[in-house]
Amino acid sequence: MPKDKSAEKIVIAHRGASGYLPEHTMESKAMAFAMGPDYIEQDLVLSKDDVPIVIHDIYLEEVTDVKNRFPERKRPDGRYYVIDFTLDELKTLYVYERIDLNTQKAVFPDRYPLEEPKFRLHTLSEEISMIQGLNKSTGKNIGIYPEIKNPGFHNEHGKDISSIVLKVLDSFGYSKRSDNCILQCFDAVELRRIREELHTQLFLTQLIELPEGFENLETYSSYANAIGPSIEQLILYAHGKSDSEKKSLIQRSRDLNLKIHAYTFRKDEHPNFETFENLLNFAFKDLEIDGGFTDFPDVVQEYFKK
Ligand code: CA
Repeated sequence: MPKDKSAEKIVIAHRGASGYLPEHTMESKAMAFAMGPDYIEQDLVLSKDDVPIVIHDIYLEEVTDVKNRFPERKRPDGRYYVIDFTLDELKTLYVYERIDLNTQKAVFPDRYPLEEPKFRLHTLSEEISMIQGLNKSTGKNIGIYPEIKNPGFHNEHGKDISSIVLKVLDSFGYSKRSDNCILQCFDAVELRRIREELHTQLFLTQLIELPEGFENLETYSSYANAIGPSIEQLILYAHGKSDSEKKSLIQRSRDLNLKIHAYTFRKDEHPNFETFENLLNFAFKDLEIDGGFTDFPDVVQEYFKK
């Protein structure tokens, strides 16, 4: 991690400023940059020709027009896989707001209009070039927060996504703990491999999800520098606990030298809390976690300024 932000809360622009523009588009990243978060996130999946593409899923049809462009390229399961397309082919697709495949409607109806498919997919290198360019022209120092998606799936296709991504990161000057880059992954075996076999010195975040709780912190601390739980995991953890008991999670993490960066803070989706601010208070005041992934980096930054 770049600076010592032990006392500061970290804001990570989740898939860019995805509350305002289609997720993982360059436009969404540029808008996020202008909001001045600490990090901008890149989810990564390999193309057929082994180029890391910035996209959330191994599938294409929830955020692109692949069905219309390449109708014959679906697999027997009816799905279109990023890994079946070359970079050149992927570049011809239009990107739009995420849709629910069952209803064909926008997952978040109040966000950017579905009818506006002017956007394109891009590579990890293209996005880092832009962020570094903006860092130069604005004098800011905004970091990147890439995620290795589905390493097991890539492995089944004979691809070592982690090695390929580390090589790209290294070529842009991200290789040490002090560089402004945090690498994340849900797959604990893979993240450990990234540390112990691929020997990266980067700051690493172990993402976790339900039904897991917080019982494996010590194991994670042996190779990772942070954990990334979901808000639902935090809610379950805090349930029935007193205010002081709630703080024991962050205490335990600090003792193990682990940060906690939780996902995902959405102004338009906070089912367990009456207001978005109540959710932010729960995470950052009651539990005192260190940072959060948000679709609305401007709103969360504004909250921290109060
Ligand atoms: Ca992610």
